[in-house]
Amino acid sequence: MPTLVLAEHNNKSMSDATAKTVSAALHLGDPVHVLVAGHGCDAVVDAVAVLQGVDTVIVADDPLYAQPLAEPVAALILSMAERYDAILAPATANGKSVAPRVAAILDVPQISEVTKILSPDTFERPIYAGSVLQTVTAPTGKKVITVRATAFPAAEPGGIALIVAIPAGPDPGLSRFVGENLSASDRPELTAARVVIAGGRGMGSAENFKLLEKIADRLDAAIGASRAAVDAGYVSNDHQVGQTGKVVAPDLYIAVGISGAIQHLAGIKDAKIIVAINKDEEAPIFQIADYGLVADLFLALPEMDAELTKL
Ligand SMILES: Cc1cc2nc3c(=O)[nH]c(=O)nc-3n(C[C@H](O)[C@H](O)[C@H](O)COP(=O)(O)OP(=O)(O)OC[C@H]3O[C@@H](n4cnc5c(N)ncnc54)[C@H](O)[C@@H]3O)c2cc1C
Repeated sequence: MPTLVLAEHNNKSMSDATAKTVSAALHLGDPVHVLVAGHGCDAVVDAVAVLQGVDTVIVADDPLYAQPLAEPVAALILSMAERYDAILAPATANGKSVAPRVAAILDVPQISEVTKILSPDTFERPIYAGSVLQTVTAPTGKKVITVRATAFPAAEPGGIALIVAIPAGPDPGLSRFVGENLSASDRPELTAARVVIAGGRGMGSAENFKLLEKIADRLDAAIGASRAAVDAGYVSNDHQVGQTGKVVAPDLYIAVGISGAIQHLAGIKDAKIIVAINKDEEAPIFQIADYGLVADLFLALPEMDAELTKL
């Protein structure tokens, strides 16, 4: 049986997490179908249809899916679920909202936040804030899987999938879209950024975060933060990296004034190079950092900025 992947998108563009979930789905060894539920989402369909390995794009283009409400999207997946053994969604806020509804109503196992697919029934996933990797075997048969996208490479363009339009599924009428407040930023999105510079409690104030902004501008980096910095009101909570924040996987992660609590490290495990700037040489962040600078950040950041301007 083919595998179904739920595409994540904003009706205009496909998210990077979709391409990464497709690449996870390919490890199951069956043809991959991708469901695009949206409204006026032609550009998304075009982007998904050229991902290598996608066999069929199933498109439900209807006002019911203009916003990704979990209940109607789950009902749509349920209406087609009997054709699939495995149903995958990215482990994003949307995916994590839709997938458990589908698993519960089908009464099948859900395997959450998989980071490796060892066989069609065996998966690796992090537990205890990423400090332990668990290998789980699911019973043979239908299953729902959420994929930690940062653990998989994005499927590349180069394919040609069949595109099949389907009518909208039922509307359970359980939820209604009221509005959304999106944070507007010219910077790269935190979970997709190549470089992230993050500040912790050591930054001392919202005003001092401007020191990070200057460097982020030079490196085309996203800005992240520890929970302590968010709780102190230095930055908004969409900057939070970690167990209860975002999971990032940049090529370069620069942690400034962050001690390295396990809950923070859970969000940066997949970063390729970690640089830590901290004035306390005993700070736990140095145990996982590739490069560590024991220094006062208020001296180190202006120096770094000055050096970067020379490049
Ligand atoms: C259930 C749960 C979930 C959590 N989820 C998250 C999460 O998702 N993300 C997260 O980050 N935390 C999370 N936490 C909180 C976590 O345990 C830590 O409290 C938090 O990460 C600490 O943030 P911090 O490193 O900025 O602050 P601190 O631990 O206070 O560290 C500040 C660091 O700044 C350094 N410093 C101070 N001044 C300077 C200076 N002038 N120059 C250089 N260095 C300086 C200090 O030496 C220190 O190491 C969670 C906790 C719980 C219980």
